[in-house]
Amino acid sequence: MQKRDYYEVLGVDRSAGEDDIKKAYRQLALKYHPDRNPGDASAEESFKEATEAYEVLKDQAKRQQYDQFGHAGIGQGAGFGGGGFEGFDLSDALRAFMQDFGGFGGGGFEDIFGGGRGRRANNRGGDLQVRLKLTLEEIAEGVSKKLRVKRMATCSECSGHGSAAGTSRKTCPQCKGAGQVRRITRSLFGQMVNVTTCDICHGSGHVISTPCPRCRGEGRTKDQTTISVDIPAGVSAGNYIPIEGKGDAGRLGGPPGDIIVVIEEKEHDDFTRQDNNIILQVSVSFITAAMGGSIEIPVLGGTDRLEIPSGTQTGKVFRLRGKGIPFLRRRGRGDQLVQLQLWTPKKLTENDKKLLRQLEKSESFTAPKSSKSFFSKLRETLGV
Ligand SMILES: [Zn+2]
Ligand SMILES: [Zn+2]
Repeated sequence: MQKRDYYEVLGVDRSAGEDDIKKAYRQLALKYHPDRNPGDASAEESFKEATEAYEVLKDQAKRQQYDQFGHAGIGQGAGFGGGGFEGFDLSDALRAFMQDFGGFGGGGFEDIFGGGRGRRANNRGGDLQVRLKLTLEEIAEGVSKKLRVKRMATCSECSGHGSAAGTSRKTCPQCKGAGQVRRITRSLFGQMVNVTTCDICHGSGHVISTPCPRCRGEGRTKDQTTISVDIPAGVSAGNYIPIEGKGDAGRLGGPPGDIIVVIEEKEHDDFTRQDNNIILQVSVSFITAAMGGSIEIPVLGGTDRLEIPSGTQTGKVFRLRGKGIPFLRRRGRGDQLVQLQLWTPKKLTENDKKLLRQLEKSESFTAPKSSKSFFSKLRETLGV
């Protein structure tokens, strides 16, 4: 198939500048991107065609070759290796597009197409993960915390430029200022064009001739700072709160990363958390359980009294509505569940024993004779 003229593909003039070419390509790439046209083969073709045209025309040397010799200049041209773009497939096109217009990893597809944060720069600072352990009380109320964070901060001496005072940076000798290096590799399926970030200048296109003595040319230095973070009530272990732009400063003035606060829960002395409910196990004497009474129990942020009716059996669960953890995304709170456990005394005085022996004779203290029915039920089940 005869290839269309690259200028025609992008719909730009032969004298179009770098910016016009980029703009034209971006428009076409967004229109024909496979993620926007799933299963549409002709859109995929157009995407590949536009990307190929852009890959040539954005590159000064290639564009010159193309202007002089047309497709032949690219196809068999010296310096590009034989075959040129013959092996330029969809994955190459996608990779080339993402190289210039950002990946889908961090912010997601919508960021690029919706014009959100845009692409993540190569010299963007790192995201920092900070673990924050909270008590159940803090989780129940919501809390404001100050965190001490070790991070990279913009160098105060060179303001992030990385050059010593009175000196200036130079164009990177490896990528000639492009920030990217193109490598063509041969494979079974033809030639692959790989565009990678220049490892000399890390994508900035510049190198420092005389590094700033404070940051040694990196544009950032180690630093410690305190940040505050507001934790809403109702969070759980594993929830995280991003604090944008508070992570490591970028290399050589690049944009800063984020701090990601990851919530952890401290174990509570009394309560076990189950979703938004809290569970409390309390021991009561068999006298309280038998006669009924009021006991003091811990609740979140204080104490409360629990009325126990007479004749309460061990294992009984009381539900205190709305005494649990607030829901994170809606009104209301979980419950506090209180489970009673009968406590058996371990040491008895002679007098205790005497009284208990007396009680033992009372009919009220005779446990129901369930053992027989238990065995007969068991026999029934087993069919013996
Ligand atoms: Zn510096
Ligand atoms: Zn470079």
